[in-house]
Amino acid sequence: MADPHQLFADKVTHVYRRSLSLFAHGVMVATALAAFLLTEVSVAAVAAWYFFMLGTSGYHSYFGNTLLAADRRALAGVNVSKLVFLAALAGFGWGSAAAFLPFVSVHQQLLLVLTLTAVAAASLPRMAALPVVNAAFMAGLFLPILIGLVVVFGVEHWMMVMVLVVIWAGLTDEARKANIDLSAIYANQQALEVEAVRDKLTGIPNRRSFDNSIEREWGRAQRMAVPISLIMVDVDFFKKYNDRYGHQAGDECLARVARALGGTMRRSSDMVARYGGEEFVALLFHMSRDDGLMLAEAMRRTVEALRMEHSDNPGGVVTISLGGATSIPGHDDHPEALLRKADEALYRAKAEGRNRVVWADEGLAPVS
Ligand code: GH3
Ligand code: MG
Ligand code: MG
Repeated sequence: MADPHQLFADKVTHVYRRSLSLFAHGVMVATALAAFLLTEVSVAAVAAWYFFMLGTSGYHSYFGNTLLAADRRALAGVNVSKLVFLAALAGFGWGSAAAFLPFVSVHQQLLLVLTLTAVAAASLPRMAALPVVNAAFMAGLFLPILIGLVVVFGVEHWMMVMVLVVIWAGLTDEARKANIDLSAIYANQQALEVEAVRDKLTGIPNRRSFDNSIEREWGRAQRMAVPISLIMVDVDFFKKYNDRYGHQAGDECLARVARALGGTMRRSSDMVARYGGEEFVALLFHMSRDDGLMLAEAMRRTVEALRMEHSDNPGGVVTISLGGATSIPGHDDHPEALLRKADEALYRAKAEGRNRVVWADEGLAPVS
């Protein structure tokens, strides 16, 4: 299921990405059109249209561009009516050139209508992502031309108007189809993005997600000079569990353990990921050794409290062993060193009898 807010943000991005370079193209087209019009219309009239068009289109592009520069989450909350209004105004910036229709020669009329229709068609691939915005732009552009044509040719020359209406309807239908395709593409992309960072069996973040997160959080801890804690988790005697209860039951056991571990995370910055096989890892930004130890103990107790039968484990239920390590990362420190320390602590927890927490403490930077 696609997240509708995310989908909307993707579509806003689709419409307004590279809007400034699109505006530059628009300026070129408008300049060429204005140059032609100057041969038959007064400078003042052409200049009035030209700058009105630049202002409306320019502001529309500028506003779209500032939207994309903002936080992605803010995008989902964009005021749609403002977008619709600005798009209609930008469309009218072009469409208002229809005011020249009654005052120019037939071939300039043709050039005018052709240019404006081309502008509408060219905007479609981007605008189609937001149907109301597209409809507003098209209406702003086509309505003045339709009115202009009726004024020039009268209703008895209805063919002129009909052709334009058919073009408009065709573009609208194209936009509708493009919108369906774009929605499917972005929803699919979203699903893939989620898949890429989630472990299929357990539903928690996967190794790749952990690798990305620790890279990011390590840098953050370095800059802020705050501690970062890691807890490596390994299910006890899991090979025997598989041997006795079967691989399928083993899979279900792992999923339950993963959910239970996930449930012990308290802050939004805490994450527990599947590290591989029957091993998990918790990444705890800005967490001291003491808090990390407490959390690890809570994780151990939570899994034990699930009371999942495991006859080959002393105590008769599924348990985990945990190894933790804490460090305030220095300038030249790498996360691998902390991972190794947590792994060594886990090894000791296994050696000392399993179902316990061991914390690495030698050779670490002082922790707060
Ligand atoms: P220890 O207490 O020392 O950790 O013993 P252990 O048996 O848990 O450790 P070992 O590394 O020997 O075995 C891990 C087992 O986990 C072996 C493997 O078949 C099982 N395992 C790894 N990934 C999966 C999985 O996705 N599903 C299932 N069902 N089993 C898995
Ligand atoms: Mg293991
Ligand atoms: Mg194990």
